[in-house]
Amino acid sequence: MRRQRNVKIVATLGPASNDYDTIRALHEAGADVFRLNMSHGSHDEIAERHKIIRKIEADLDSPIAILADLQGPKLRVGVFANDAEELEEGASFRMDLDTTPGDVTRVNLPHPEIFQALEAGASLLVNDGKIRLKVDRCGKDFADCTVITGGTISNRKGVNVPDVVLPLAALSEKDRADLEFVCALGVDWLALSFVQRAKDVFEAKGLADGRAAIVAKIEKPAAVDNIDEILDASDGIMVARGDLGVELPVSAVPPIQKRLVRKCRNAAKPVIVATQMLESMIESPMPTRAEVSDVATAIYEGTDAIMLSAESAAGQYPIEAVETMDKVAKEVEADPTYRDIIDASRSAKGTTIADGIVAAAREIAEKTDIKAIACYTQSGTTALLTSRERPAVPILAMTPMIDTARRMALSWGCNCIQADSVDRFKGAVVGAVRAARAGGFANEGDQIVVTAGVPFNVAGTTNILRIAPCDERQIYSTDPE
Ligand code: PGA
Ligand code: MN
Repeated sequence: MRRQRNVKIVATLGPASNDYDTIRALHEAGADVFRLNMSHGSHDEIAERHKIIRKIEADLDSPIAILADLQGPKLRVGVFANDAEELEEGASFRMDLDTTPGDVTRVNLPHPEIFQALEAGASLLVNDGKIRLKVDRCGKDFADCTVITGGTISNRKGVNVPDVVLPLAALSEKDRADLEFVCALGVDWLALSFVQRAKDVFEAKGLADGRAAIVAKIEKPAAVDNIDEILDASDGIMVARGDLGVELPVSAVPPIQKRLVRKCRNAAKPVIVATQMLESMIESPMPTRAEVSDVATAIYEGTDAIMLSAESAAGQYPIEAVETMDKVAKEVEADPTYRDIIDASRSAKGTTIADGIVAAAREIAEKTDIKAIACYTQSGTTALLTSRERPAVPILAMTPMIDTARRMALSWGCNCIQADSVDRFKGAVVGAVRAARAGGFANEGDQIVVTAGVPFNVAGTTNILRIAPCDERQIYSTDPE
C-alpha cells in the first residue's frame, strides 16, 4: 500500500485489534508491520491474527511484515499469601528459592541462576522499577535486601536486575516453543527480548535458520555496552525504551536512542523506536503535546520505524493512534529542517559497487527531476543500502521474493513490490516503469532511476544504473537486451 511518508509504523496486535476489520483498518490507516507479542495470547490466538494479516495482504495485494516478539528470560517473583504486600522504605526484605507464599518479609524468586550471579550492592527492581531493593547479603538460594524505594508488591510482578550480566539462556523453554511455532506459521521478523550479548542473537538465528530475520531488543545495560557486536549479529534493532528505562535512569534513554538510531543507519539495518510513544492514547483520543514531540523527535533522528504497544493492542483508540503517527510523520517529513538533518547525518562510507550505485542514484534524484528509485533486490541488501541513503524520492524495492518484500516493509522509505522474476535488463526496466506508474509514483513523461544486477537472480551483484523514461515505447526502441 502506497504511503505518503517514509518512516514505518509498527502496530502491536492484542484484544483491541483482533478481528479482520480492525486489523485492516489499522493497515489502511498506516500500520506497515504488525507485532505479535508472545508474552500475551495463546498459540491459537496468535495463529488467528497471523491468518487475518495474510488474508489482508492477499486482499490488498500489498506485502505486510509480521514481527513476532519473544518474551525472553523475563524474571518474576512468586506469589503472596495475601496476593499483595506494602513494602516500606528502610525495611528488610528477602528473596529466596522457597516456594511458600510470601509475606511482608520475603517472597519466592524462582530463578536459582540469579542468586548465583548476584552481589552485595546490586539493585533488584520490581514492578517496572517502582520498587527498588538493594542487596545487602546473598547466598546461593537467597538475597537479603533493604527497601530503598517502597511500594506495593504483588503476585508475579516482574523483576529487573540491571547491574549484573545474568547467566541466563537467551531463550527460555517457552521462547523456544514460541519460536518454532511462529517460524512454522511464517513470520518475517523475530524480536528477541533482554538480549545481553551477540551469542544470544546467534542462538536464535540458529533456531530460526533463515525462516525469519532477527531484531535484537536493546533493553539491558549489557546490551548497550555490547551494541556493536549485537548489531553486527542482528538484522535490526529495537530501542525497547520500556525496560531500558527501568534498568537505566530514564534520563539515559534519549541519548542511547539517538546513538542507536545513528548506528543502525550506518550499518544499513532497520531500527524501531518503541514504547510509550502515544501512551495517553490508550485512554484518550488525543495525544499529549509531549508524545507528539517524542514521535516527531524519533523521525527527525532518522529512525526506520516507530512502534505502538498497548495503544494498538489494548487501548480504546488503536486506529486513532496509528492515524496520529501517520499525520506526525507526514508533517515532519515535509519540513525542510528534516531534510537538512537527514542529509547532514549521512555518514556511512561503504566501498562496494552497490554502495557507489545507491549513492549515485540518490544524488541523481537530488540534482534532477527523477520521480523514484527502483531497485531490484534478491536478498534485500540493495534496498537496505538505498534506504540508508535516505533519498528525497520514493524507493521501489522490487523483488521476486515475497519474504524479502515483507521484511523490507520495516525499512525506511521502502515501497515493497513483489515483481515478476526477470532475466533480461529490458524486462527489469519495463517492470520498474510499470510498477512506478501503477503505484502513482510517475507518469508517462517522467523518468526514474532503475538499479539492478546482471546476471539477474543472483544476490550481491548490483552493477547497473539506468535512467529510464516512463514511456515504454522509448525503452523498447532504445534499450539493449
Ligand atoms: P516489551 O518490550 O513491550 O516486550 O517489554 C518493549 C520495551 O521494553 O520497551
Ligand atoms: Mn521489554
